Amino acid sequence: LVPRLRPFTSTIFAEMTALAVRTGAINLGQGFPDTDGPAGMLGAAKDALFGGANQYPPGPGRPELRAAIATHRQRYGLEYDPETEILVTAGATEAITAALLALTEAGDEVIVIEPYYDSYSAAVAMSGATRKVVSLKESAEGPFVLDVNALRAAVTPRTRAILVNSPHNPTGTVFTEAELGAIADLCVRNDLVAITDEVYEHLVFDDAVHRPLATFPGMRARTVSISSAGKTFNCTGWKIGWVCATPELVGAVKAAKQFMTFVSGGPLQPAVAYALDHELPWVEELRASLAAKRNRLSAGLVEAGFDVHPSFGTYFVCADVRPLGFEDAAELAWQLPERIGVATVPVNVFTDHPEDWKHLLRFAFCKKDEVLDEAVSRLHKLR
Ligand code: PMP
Ligand code: GLN
Repeated sequence: LVPRLRPFTSTIFAEMTALAVRTGAINLGQGFPDTDGPAGMLGAAKDALFGGANQYPPGPGRPELRAAIATHRQRYGLEYDPETEILVTAGATEAITAALLALTEAGDEVIVIEPYYDSYSAAVAMSGATRKVVSLKESAEGPFVLDVNALRAAVTPRTRAILVNSPHNPTGTVFTEAELGAIADLCVRNDLVAITDEVYEHLVFDDAVHRPLATFPGMRARTVSISSAGKTFNCTGWKIGWVCATPELVGAVKAAKQFMTFVSGGPLQPAVAYALDHELPWVEELRASLAAKRNRLSAGLVEAGFDVHPSFGTYFVCADVRPLGFEDAAELAWQLPERIGVATVPVNVFTDHPEDWKHLLRFAFCKKDEVLDEAVSRLHKLR
């Protein structure tokens, strides 16, 4: 294995899920729902499977899916030409990697906000670029906050791109207008490309609103906007993602993508098109149900003795283990499945500064209520 990929031989999700399976633990580690997506979408997939949609779809994606993605993007007031400005990918993961491979190389710097989704560091390494990490600031009661001064200080003449994930995994932070505005301003002033990971775009709670970075002045032309069906329609295994950007940027991403997978998910593409066109009311119900699950798990964790950070979106809530007398959440996370039968993910695996983040565990709440309740009752045994 080449040196730059040596830190990436396994993923926390694969390891923690394997441990959960081995020990029979409840898996609140890897974020995936335990119920299926809308029946109409599943039926559309079945129809496509038996209807002959089993050969290579077109390179940029099936036309009806690109049209549905363009229509969906209009909800934010953003217009994209389905012919030249949309590319279907093998999940958001491939889109992010292809964007970095296409737009950055050795000698370039990419700004990444920590804690970051695990594939970002690996994808930046694959491109040969260097990651420059800016830490979110943790506050005792309120949301995690973007340190705009630290972000500005991270820009150098070598900076090419910034990766922005909101709603944010693992913290459940939804960046404010002011935070997004500051990022946009920085990109415009320094001629940076923004690569936005919006996979949780529909999963925002309370008064939180998802506003795509591409809607800010000057950003439509310099943002590679990425999303995926997995979280919106409870189909994380389908790996249907997409990129929206200018023809130049989409063309660049396609140059890399077409030699990674060429195409994928042929019969699933029309089903996702159907879901985008018809199932957004179902997604509204999902959102309300996830908000209730967030409440349920957060309250249970507080009862069990954790300090719980508020989550405003995604599948996740972060909790501080120190009130329970533990110092190292990473160590604890590896013991929990065996000890009490609950799997979680330590937040510091998503950072370049493991010491600063070692008191936090990430819990996924995208599970049936009875599963959440059983996990909480097991966590009570930690006292
Ligand atoms: N980005 C974030 C922030 C995620 O949490 C995930 C995991 N679902 C992905 C990207 C990957 O998305 P996909 O499964 O569509 O590749
Ligand atoms: N996105 C999911 C999470 O953060 C897991 C994705 C994966 O297993 N790679 O838990």
